[in-house]
Amino acid sequence: MTTRVVVLGAGFGGLELATTVALSGDVEVTLIDQAEGFVFGFSKLDVMFGKADRDQVLHRYAEMVNPEVRFVNAEITAIDPVERRVETSAGRFDADVLVVALGADLDPSATPGLVEGGHEFYTVAGAFAAADALREFPGGRVVVAVTSTPFKCPPAPSETALLTYEYLTSRGLPCDLTLVMPLSTPIPPSPDASIEVLAAFEERGIDFLPETLVRSLDPTRKVASLSDGSELPYDLFLGVPQHRVPPVVAESGLAVDGWIPVDPLTLETSYPQVYAVGDVTSVGTPKAGVFAEGQAAVVAARILESISGGSGRTEYDGRGVCYLEFGGDQVAKVDVTFVAGQRPVGELIGPSASLASDKITFGRDRIRRWFGH
Ligand SMILES: Cc1cc2nc3c(=O)[nH]c(=O)nc-3n(C[C@H](O)[C@H](O)[C@H](O)COP(=O)(O)OP(=O)(O)OC[C@H]3O[C@@H](n4cnc5c(N)ncnc54)[C@H](O)[C@@H]3O)c2cc1C
Repeated sequence: MTTRVVVLGAGFGGLELATTVALSGDVEVTLIDQAEGFVFGFSKLDVMFGKADRDQVLHRYAEMVNPEVRFVNAEITAIDPVERRVETSAGRFDADVLVVALGADLDPSATPGLVEGGHEFYTVAGAFAAADALREFPGGRVVVAVTSTPFKCPPAPSETALLTYEYLTSRGLPCDLTLVMPLSTPIPPSPDASIEVLAAFEERGIDFLPETLVRSLDPTRKVASLSDGSELPYDLFLGVPQHRVPPVVAESGLAVDGWIPVDPLTLETSYPQVYAVGDVTSVGTPKAGVFAEGQAAVVAARILESISGGSGRTEYDGRGVCYLEFGGDQVAKVDVTFVAGQRPVGELIGPSASLASDKITFGRDRIRRWFGH
C-alpha cells in the first residue's frame, strides 16, 4: 500500500524531508509551500552586502526537477492534526503521515517604530531593502540589534555587524557600530568561537552589548530604546524582528507556549503520525537550517523504517555545523551538539578562506539534491 506523506513548508526542513522520503518507491510525497521559491538564510546577507544578485539567490519551486515529489504552490489555510488533513488555496490534502515544516514567521510591526524608523534584515524583502539602504548610506552610527527571543541563526547578527563594518570601511565611509544581543556571548555553546568573534569586534571597534534587547525605536529622534531602560542613537538600524509560528499553526492547536513541542529524539508531536521539524518547533536546538535539515533526515528515516514494516529506530543527535562569516572572505565553522538535559558543546574550525568555498559547496550541494539541477 502506498503511504501518503504530506509535507507542509518547502524550506530547509521540508525540502530535505520530501527529497529523502521520495527515494522510496512506496510513498506518495506532496510538498506544499506558498512562496515563489527557496532562499537560504545566509544568501540574504550575500544580497545585503552586494555579493549576490536577488535573482541568483531565489531557487524557484517551478524549476524543481524531482518527479518523485508533487509540489503544490499554495497557501495552507487550516491544519487538522487529528484527521491529518490540511486545507489550502489549492484544495484539501489527506495524509497518512503529516510533517509540519512551516518555519518561524517574522513580525516587524511587533516592535514599535521598527517599520517606520529602521530596517529588518531577516525576511527576504527586508534583506533586499536593507541592501538598498546600505548602498545609499553615507556612513555614521549603525546599530545591529535583536528585538526578542528566540531568533533564527544566533550567529547571524554578529556576522551582520562584521560584514557591515567591512562594507562601509572598504568604501571609505565612517562606521560607528554597536551590536545589541540577548545572549551573554556571541556563540554561547562554543567559548572558542565567542572569543574569536569578540576579538574581531574589538579589532574593529564594534561595541557589543550582551544580554540586551531593543524594545522600540523612535524614528523622529533616531534612538533605540533598550531593555535596560537606556537609549542608543543610530543613523542606520538593522534589526532582527520578533518571531512566531505562522498563524495557521497557531490556529491548529499544535503549538504550546508559542511553538510546537516534539519528542527531541523522534520529532513526533503529541498527535499520532504527525511530525514537526525545524524553526516551528521548541525542540531545544537553535532555529537554524542545519538543525531543520538534521531533524528532517531523522523523520524521513523513521517514516521509511515504518513503511518497511519495522518501528522507527533512527534518533536525532542534536548536531549541526554552522558557518560563520568574519568578512574579508574569512569563514569559520562551528560544530555544535545540543542534547536535551545536557550543556550544549561546540568546536570552532577556522576562520579561513578555504571554509568560504566550503560554504559555497554546502549551498550548491543542497540545491542540486533538492531541486535536481
Ligand atoms: C540572515 C539569516 C542568516 C541565516 N544563516 C543561516 C546559516 O548560515 N545556517 C543555517 O543553518 N541557518 C541560517 N539561517 C536560519 C535558516 O534560514 C532557518 O533556520 C531555516 O530556513 C529554517 O528551516 P525550516 O525548514 O524550519 O523553515 P523555513 O526554511 O523558514 O521554511 C518554512 C516554509 O514554510 C512556508 N510557509 C509558512 N507558512 C505557510 C503557509 N501558511 N502556507 C504555505 N507555506 C507556508 C514558507 O514559505 C517557507 O518556505 C539564517 C537565517 C537568517 C534570517
